Amino acid sequence: MSMLFQDATVFDCTGADPRRHMSVLVEDGRIARIGAAGSVGAPEGGRVIDCAGRTLMPGLTDAHVHFGLTAAGQFEPPESHVSYVIKVVENIRLALEEGFTTVRDAGGLDPAFAVAVEAGQIAGPRVLPSGSFLSITGGHGDQRHRWTDEAPKSIPGLLAATEIVDSPDAVRRAARIQIRRGATQVKLMASGGVMSPNDPIESLQFSVEEMRAAVGEARAFGTYVMAHCHTSGAMQNALEAGVRSLEHGSILDDATAKRIAAQGAFVVPTLVILEILSRSDQIPAFSRQKLDRVRGETATAIAIAQAAGAKIGSGSDLLGPRQRRRASELVEKARHLGTAEAIVSATRTNAALFHMSDRIGTVEEGKEADLILVAGDPLDDIGVLVDARNIPLVVKAGEIMKDTL
Ligand SMILES: [Zn+2]
Repeated sequence: MSMLFQDATVFDCTGADPRRHMSVLVEDGRIARIGAAGSVGAPEGGRVIDCAGRTLMPGLTDAHVHFGLTAAGQFEPPESHVSYVIKVVENIRLALEEGFTTVRDAGGLDPAFAVAVEAGQIAGPRVLPSGSFLSITGGHGDQRHRWTDEAPKSIPGLLAATEIVDSPDAVRRAARIQIRRGATQVKLMASGGVMSPNDPIESLQFSVEEMRAAVGEARAFGTYVMAHCHTSGAMQNALEAGVRSLEHGSILDDATAKRIAAQGAFVVPTLVILEILSRSDQIPAFSRQKLDRVRGETATAIAIAQAAGAKIGSGSDLLGPRQRRRASELVEKARHLGTAEAIVSATRTNAALFHMSDRIGTVEEGKEADLILVAGDPLDDIGVLVDARNIPLVVKAGEIMKDTL
């Protein structure tokens, strides 16, 4: 369906300032024309949307979601499959309602859910799934209690549990399996993590050779590896292996930041989850100390990354059921990057990270029409993006996915 957005303030996320009183014409799923209000005619039989007082901008993106991690671990074992699927579908639906039109799942979501979204069976953003994450024995993805040897198993088409792999050959095979099942990139755990019981945050997980095996497979299939790395040591190993997307990046030194920039890699800080966890009274003791450490370093890490010219993407890392207020991540980022840059990181920069710059991430003629209409001015108050009620219209590839106008 064609549609004309009339008299909108357009924040296009190309780096330009917002433009007031603009018209944007959408035809055949794409942004066909952008011009001053009145200069673009209404399409015959199309819809005209009055945008006075509202901001039109690209659909938001989130480079680090975990739609499938509905429980603290991976799944609640006594839970029925039906209940699990309902929770996952709700997470997917909520992200769309909050204005997210493309997300990258950082592991734990079976790619079958992405297929269901693509087929229109679930209302949701485009999902770029990683499938199972790859972890070493005792690593961040190995959430088993110390005295337990039996690890949760994946159920292809439903559940993507951690793949515990311990050699380059095992990593290569696991990466191939994820890609075969529909992963659009490979996710691995390259350092300790906050919520895992057995690994100090500084632990280095996977050798460079093991990570190289994953990178080689990913490249052979035209894609890349994203790695959970909290520390510079882990990031250096990952960069040595050719990893492109460094997740969290919480404890970062100058030399590592410069290397990220030089290699054209991305760092994806995940800030809001640290705030959510720090307010929770359900954090196990083994996590609390790691959380405080990581949270204390984040501001410095972002400043160092920015000064080095490293590309900074945006991810929320929200966990659990009923994942809401996803754009709180942008509010946190704005404290460090400024408001406009925070929004650009969650639109244009993430689009580049996803290898989708030619399709999404900015409001420009020829791009797919992934657009949100925001009541108010997010550049003045980025907090308006957090409440879904301030986003009455969500358009994905030219299709109206939400309309409460
Ligand atoms: Zn994560």
